[in-house]
Amino acid sequence: MQTELWYTEKQTPNLGLSCKVKETLYFAKTDYQEMAVLDTIQFGRMLVLDGMVQLTVADEFVYHEMISHIPLATHPCPRNVLVVGGGDGGAVREIVKYPQVEKVTLVEIDAKVIEAARRFFPEISSAFSDPRVEIKIADGIEYVRSLESTCDVIIVDSTEPVGPAVGLFGSPFYEGAFRALKPDGIFVAQTESPFFNADLIRTVFRRIKTVFPQAYLYLASVPTYPSGLWSFTLGSKKYNPLEPEGKNIPQDTRYYTAGLHRSSFTLPRFVRDLLADEHCEHES
Ligand code: SAM
Repeated sequence: MQTELWYTEKQTPNLGLSCKVKETLYFAKTDYQEMAVLDTIQFGRMLVLDGMVQLTVADEFVYHEMISHIPLATHPCPRNVLVVGGGDGGAVREIVKYPQVEKVTLVEIDAKVIEAARRFFPEISSAFSDPRVEIKIADGIEYVRSLESTCDVIIVDSTEPVGPAVGLFGSPFYEGAFRALKPDGIFVAQTESPFFNADLIRTVFRRIKTVFPQAYLYLASVPTYPSGLWSFTLGSKKYNPLEPEGKNIPQDTRYYTAGLHRSSFTLPRFVRDLLADEHCEHES
């Protein structure tokens, strides 16, 4: 019998996603987290941090397009964009597709993630060489606190709320992001699975809604993330994401379309119900 190597992410204490592995390409303990790069048969290369799948080559496009194009297509002229986390470069790759973007600042706490992205995921980190992109190795919480009325869009492409990412889910960070945005700025953060993280989604939605005049939740289907259904929470000072004003929306997407932009805000009843007390903006 042939020996088989499998990787299992324990998505909950009672559920695992298992992938057959061709090869372990890299393993390291960084100053912040444990990092592995695996070559899986089903999903291709996979980045794992602290035992949690961050991306795979096969399905990363869904998450990176949806965390980037929803805010950028909503804003009529996103010139200055900040990404917190996102050291794999996938969000930046989508952001630089907009000709009106003049500057993208990527603030990643762990330099080793950037190194691994360049080495093992060149198709995802391809925009690191774009002259509009500046990479800063720093804590996104402190970096955001240092800004005032600077950014058009802030995207929080973070790990789950453990370790250095805990503060990225707290009210002080959202208040700092509000101050860091221009008067018509847009904020978006990845906010986990409505099946497994209902309490987190409810709490984060309430916090963002307390800080921003408008708050919205939208969804996308990401096969390798826990439960396969992923949420994003958007806070807006002015623009309504259901009536996107963006120009030059890229056509070279694989998940995002103008129709999907709108439909991703139409929530299943159980998700709508979990935000019910928070007075969801999109009741249709
Ligand atoms: N798409 C992914 C997901 O939802 O699983 C997130 C991917 S990206 C690799 C997440 C990055 O956030 C990690 O590289 C991690 O080092 C970074 N990160 C965590 N906390 C941070 C902080 N406080 N400031 C900046 N980056 C942070």
